[in-house]
Amino acid sequence: MDSMSRIPFNKPAPMGNEYAYIHQTMELGHISGDGAFTKKCHALLETELGVSKVLLTSSCTHALEMAALLLDVQPGDEFIVPSFTFVSTANAFVLRSARPVFIDIRPDTLNLDEAQLEDLITTHTRAIVPVHYAGVGCEMDAIMDIAGRYRIPVVEDNAHGLFGKYRGRYLGTFGCLATQSFHETKNFTCGEGGALLINDRALIERAEIIREKGTNRSRFFRGQVDKYTWVDVGSSYLPSDMLAAVLFAQLEAREQIQAQRQRIWRCYYEHLQGWAEANGIRLPVVPAHCDQPYHMFYLLLPSLEQRQDLIAHLRAQDIMSVFHYLPLHLSDMGRHFGGQPGDCPVTEDVSDRLLRLPFYNGLTVDDQERVITAIQEFQVIQG
Ligand SMILES: *Cc1c(COP(=O)(O)O)cnc(C)c1O
Repeated sequence: MDSMSRIPFNKPAPMGNEYAYIHQTMELGHISGDGAFTKKCHALLETELGVSKVLLTSSCTHALEMAALLLDVQPGDEFIVPSFTFVSTANAFVLRSARPVFIDIRPDTLNLDEAQLEDLITTHTRAIVPVHYAGVGCEMDAIMDIAGRYRIPVVEDNAHGLFGKYRGRYLGTFGCLATQSFHETKNFTCGEGGALLINDRALIERAEIIREKGTNRSRFFRGQVDKYTWVDVGSSYLPSDMLAAVLFAQLEAREQIQAQRQRIWRCYYEHLQGWAEANGIRLPVVPAHCDQPYHMFYLLLPSLEQRQDLIAHLRAQDIMSVFHYLPLHLSDMGRHFGGQPGDCPVTEDVSDRLLRLPFYNGLTVDDQERVITAIQEFQVIQG
């Protein structure tokens, strides 16, 4: 083992055209936001997903912030968010002085437990923010039904789920708004990047304004107004066209990327099934009505101690594995909002036991075999 190289948890993989496209946008002379490649990315995503409007942003975090601005979230408003998610899902709304109401997750998909949703709704609820964990769809039929009855907007945090489907329909097309991430750790990347998907056409014009520093610059470029001016609140949420060039190369290679990730996911699943059963370890659950985009592969160990032991066992063989998320309701900020141990028992339990295995587009067959062999050597001592 000693001559072998480190297997990282994640490694970005250029698909081939990234450098040529960066060169092209430099030659075109428009490397700020909304250049040629940004428009290509918008068109590709709108066509593929069938979304009314897609706007690239500098991150998924920024797309979530735009969503909170678009929904006019105000101090005193509440929003319902899983405790088991990345900080930004909550912070974007907290930035508008809203209060997070944390919902627990289902033990199978680790998505928010729709059965608990209705009880958490109050007259102050301004948004429901489901996260499609690992790109496996939340129970959108139930969530959209409840949201519709109370007329509460749904914002899908689809950072993991681009091209995933729930009952044949693309994730990110259910809520009035949805957000994507193109961070280095996601299926498609330009380093740092994101997108806002707009399904409610009434929100499109204001989204363009908020993204362009609160000006009507987009309308000016379309010749709809003859001067552009300050018309609303806003910030600068556009990525450089050089980043869009990198992203476009990745999105164009989507079939190849998804095929690679599917092979990696299935290989883990097939080779670890027997070991998992023998050791009381749970593998990911993907319901039949969900098409996953193969974002990650995780294990649920029987205990925190065993999870830490497996991390150390893999690290000793230069294999990097990671865990996430620490329950948001028990973080310093979560406690500030009243979070207490026991509020979200499934989240608290899963957070201690979950382990993510190395998973990236360029993970070779040999390296994956090394990971699998190392895991199979690891026996959980029962009792
Ligand atoms: C990665 C991630 C984000 C944040 O994405 P950025 O593009 O890094 O801002 C938000 N939510 C979830 C669920 C994520 O996994």
